[in-house]
Amino acid sequence: MTAKLVQGYEVVIGFETHTQLSTQSKIFSRASVAFGAEPNTQACAVDMALPGTLPVMNVGAVERAIEFGLAVNSHIAERSIFARKNYFYPDLPKGYQISQFEIPVVQGGEVSFFMEEGKETVRKTVRLERAHLEEDAGKSLHEDFIGQSGIDLNRAGTPLLEIVTQPDMRSSDEAVAYAKELHKIVTWVGICDGNMQEGSFRCDANVSVRKPGQPLGTRREIKNLNSFKFMQQAIDYEVRWQIDQIEDGHAIQQATVLFDPDTGETRAMRTKEDAADYRYFPDPDLPPLVIGRDWVERVRSEMDELPRVMAERFVKDYALPEYDATQLTQSKTVAAYFEATAKACGQAKLASNWIMGEVSRRLNTSEMSIEQAPVSAAQLAALIVRISDNTISNNAARQVFDALWTEGGEVDAVIEAKGLKQMNDTGELEKIIDEVLAANPKNVEEFKAGNTKALNGLVGPIMKASKGKANPGQVNALLMKKLG
Ligand code: ADP
Ligand code: MG
Repeated sequence: MTAKLVQGYEVVIGFETHTQLSTQSKIFSRASVAFGAEPNTQACAVDMALPGTLPVMNVGAVERAIEFGLAVNSHIAERSIFARKNYFYPDLPKGYQISQFEIPVVQGGEVSFFMEEGKETVRKTVRLERAHLEEDAGKSLHEDFIGQSGIDLNRAGTPLLEIVTQPDMRSSDEAVAYAKELHKIVTWVGICDGNMQEGSFRCDANVSVRKPGQPLGTRREIKNLNSFKFMQQAIDYEVRWQIDQIEDGHAIQQATVLFDPDTGETRAMRTKEDAADYRYFPDPDLPPLVIGRDWVERVRSEMDELPRVMAERFVKDYALPEYDATQLTQSKTVAAYFEATAKACGQAKLASNWIMGEVSRRLNTSEMSIEQAPVSAAQLAALIVRISDNTISNNAARQVFDALWTEGGEVDAVIEAKGLKQMNDTGELEKIIDEVLAANPKNVEEFKAGNTKALNGLVGPIMKASKGKANPGQVNALLMKKLG
């Protein structure tokens, strides 16, 4: 598969994603991490870096890192090391951030997902380099104070898992698809609430371009992308900007840039630091993080079925195409809705078609999640049963579904009330067919002369005469019999 080129250039993207772990308390202290509290009401002595305080590792944060590693097939390090990343910033009172450098807790792994390419659906795999535990910094507030800036240390010490990919993505579409898949995994496993507005899931996109076959180009890193829409816009803008620079004869300088949603442009924030600038060294306040294999196995045994495992099971148990299985495992609630419907009606593929079609269309237009769907899995299953036992046509089923969605009710009662039952009485149907044949001798003649299209001119009036209640399959069969 050759990469798609932009003006003759290949795009190369690698992601660093900061996921805020869903613990109650901070990574090295017992202060709360709840969002939205008054400034500095959730910063304890450790978070404020008062002299004499020491960090204590939060076991819950480690467990979440293990869960993530298992979810993406990584190696969980038996022994990993916390390091000090030194830099000066007003919202970093210690003067360093505790992170992991040379030996991270989660090593390797991969994230794979489906993408539409032209008319094809292809599977892409992005390799992970690592995921490491670290603490978040505080926040500088410039707007909430008049004439001066303030520091809020509530966020200081919030547990983060930074997930770093290899430079494996080749377009903004692929980058967004990766980010969505990663978002699905962390929320599914429950290690992160995934709230992008509140900053629980923030992506940095490293972007470079090169002529095909050349070594990697110099990258610029777009910081803190907190919506999938901005992610796409920012990368597309950055790619065009870099190509323009190169075409104008300028070299790309490695830099950290910010995306401005108002102008749709990226602009340099600072020239990029190298690892050496941070003067990393092992943090003497924390012992190595030792994770026994029994701990890993215990975590594994307590984890819910993973989306990709569930998708494989849907393919195997319900004979679904891989595409359907992946779509239905976008969230646990959709998957549960599907399984309940499929089990109750015994028609998995029909259940899948209805959920990916009519149900998700309705949910999208009304901006609802599947838990809020007014049609339950049991109701949908009952509807599917009435389609497959020929009580109603597909067309009528859509009307019933609409009634269930807007007014509620019970499937059989709605079919009865709206008079949507298919005509399965052959005698009655044959009478209608005979009348229509007698009234349309020209079509009969043409059909007999070999023009199969003439049949349409007969089916239409028959369906009409039956008020749409005739079963199209049965109409066809009877017509063929009568016309020889
Ligand atoms: P740092 O930690 O200094 O940001 P890393 O070397 O760890 O740097 O890389 C960070 C991210 O940048 C990774 O996701 C990596 O895949 C990506 N990356 C590295 N080189 C390139 C490149 N030339 N173009 C695009 N992405 C790159
Ligand atoms: Mg970086």
